Amino acid sequence: MYPSRFRYEAPRTLDEAITLLRYGGDYAKVLAGGQSLVPLMKLRFASPELIVDINNLPGLGYHRADPDGTLRIGALCRHVDLERSALLASTQPTMAAAAPLIADPIVRNRGTLVGSLCHADPQGDWASVVLALGGSVIAQGPGGRRTIPVADFVTGPFQNVLEPDEIAVEAVIPAAQGVRSGGYLKLERRVGDFATVGVAVAVESSGPTVTRAGIALTGVGGSTIAATAAAEALVGQPLSAPAIAQAASLAAEVARPRTDHRGSAEYKRHMVATLVERLLSRSGGTAERAA
Ligand SMILES: Cc1cc2nc3c(=O)[nH]c(=O)nc-3n(C[C@H](O)[C@H](O)[C@H](O)COP(=O)(O)OP(=O)(O)OC[C@H]3O[C@@H](n4cnc5c(N)ncnc54)[C@H](O)[C@@H]3O)c2cc1C
Repeated sequence: MYPSRFRYEAPRTLDEAITLLRYGGDYAKVLAGGQSLVPLMKLRFASPELIVDINNLPGLGYHRADPDGTLRIGALCRHVDLERSALLASTQPTMAAAAPLIADPIVRNRGTLVGSLCHADPQGDWASVVLALGGSVIAQGPGGRRTIPVADFVTGPFQNVLEPDEIAVEAVIPAAQGVRSGGYLKLERRVGDFATVGVAVAVESSGPTVTRAGIALTGVGGSTIAATAAAEALVGQPLSAPAIAQAASLAAEVARPRTDHRGSAEYKRHMVATLVERLLSRSGGTAERAA
């Protein structure tokens, strides 16, 4: 099917893009990688009257670390940039594990991490990763910039808190307070598929003691789920077998899977516990498909 008719604008400055969005209101949409928006438009699940293509905006393709270790990912940083990133490979085990598991190489060439957060698909992998890492989104609108924790950014499936005239310009991952470990595991029916179950684990440790932990779940509820109690249960002690088993069980409890053609709710809940246990049992996560 072809999309409905729309007006297309490709501004060259952020101010111009925001002005266009203000003019378009609820009928305007930002286009980043287009890997979620374009399929939706072709199916006519989305019929924006104005597309504001941000691909000509300069200086948004970066990902870089501040001197204190804070990681910043610009709105036009593609999945493939993160997949190939030496910075992520050396400093961000959870992100480095997830990047090669997003979709397929064609989608990874165009799609963006920030676009994935904005799209707020319960099966989006990056939202779990950024949630587990305690990250935020920086939005820019006519009134300036504001920082929104990812935990507050998504309000439901395919919904976020951005105003119609705001652009998400950057995702931010805070610096680790200790040694970082963790990973991302994804159960999928075939390579490149969306997650049947995905689990992101991010752990920070000082010596053997866990100082911070984040666990988030993909595809097992109406939106990305933060397994907060599971993560908090790990803090202040070493990653012992009983601590890991308790966290796995608490994470499975907050999953809200539904039975469908990918598996029963019971099976998916079991897989949440299995993947949490597997990730925590390793010293550092690596990219691995669970199926
Ligand atoms: C075949 C296929 C398989 C896929 N498999 C997976 C998968 O396994 N895992 C996964 O996580 N994803 C998957 N995806 C989705 C993919 O990761 C998308 O790239 C991502 O969801 C959206 O990023 P984008 O840059 O393409 O955003 P777009 O498609 O351009 O936009 C998506 C939505 O976010 C909004 N938006 C985008 N950027 C901004 C911004 N900077 N500010 C404000 N609003 C913005 C748009 O207006 C739109 O509503 C798949 C997609 C396809 C086509």
